Amino acid sequence: MVKPKTEEEIELLRENAIIVSKTLAEVGKRVAPGVTTLELNRVADEFIRDNGAIPSFLGYDGFPAALCMSVNDVVVHGFPSDYVLKEGDIVSVDCGTLYKGYNGDSAYTFPVGEVDAETRKLLDVTKQSLYEGIKAAVAGARTGDIGYAVQSYVESFGFSVVRELEGHGLGKEMHEAPGVPNYGRRGHGARLVDGVVICIEPMICAGGRGVYIANNGWAVHTADHKNAAHYELTVVVRKGCAEQLSTFEFIEGKQVESN
Ligand code: MG
Ligand code: MG
Repeated sequence: MVKPKTEEEIELLRENAIIVSKTLAEVGKRVAPGVTTLELNRVADEFIRDNGAIPSFLGYDGFPAALCMSVNDVVVHGFPSDYVLKEGDIVSVDCGTLYKGYNGDSAYTFPVGEVDAETRKLLDVTKQSLYEGIKAAVAGARTGDIGYAVQSYVESFGFSVVRELEGHGLGKEMHEAPGVPNYGRRGHGARLVDGVVICIEPMICAGGRGVYIANNGWAVHTADHKNAAHYELTVVVRKGCAEQLSTFEFIEGKQVESN
């Protein structure tokens, strides 16, 4: 059985989750044609530090930046670079923080200007598949129930699920048990109990699910070079309904900041 977090630990994870959520929104405000991913990384690095946290990805296994910035056919783990974003691109922004000894970790894929209809659908379906996964993350369920929910939703639209990478538990470590695959069978996998904190993060391909790792040892590309999208939120498993710690509401404007 996966060990639940104490309510005190959950509060610290919540503080991280809010910093990460706001950082993604700060980055999102600046995503536009003509901007480099390195400039966006600088915005995030500064914002995280201004909030008293540390960008946890920087230096993690040698990762060189605060953000993973994954453009178009890059699924995850792209390096920020001098690549200039152009109209019609999509960019997955994955952000991690370390604050008061605990971690934050969430991701959002932004369209750059106007994207074509198929790409818009990929973004919408991937994000909704995350929410389908969250609905399945209730006490008594298993990780396979989450994977099944994500996979069945995504595949009903003809998109495919990357299987080499998965979500994870979150706490003092950025990646803790259990692994949370985005595919699976109902009733299989680790059992979830009240208070378990996990990151659910579907990585979804417009084409086939095959991927390869670039020569730099990090960037994960789709084998067919079609677009991929990636959204990630941190949730607490609860009885009846998971509790979201991170949120896209700062990006999407549904929430007014209260402090
Ligand atoms: Mg992440
Ligand atoms: Mg993660």
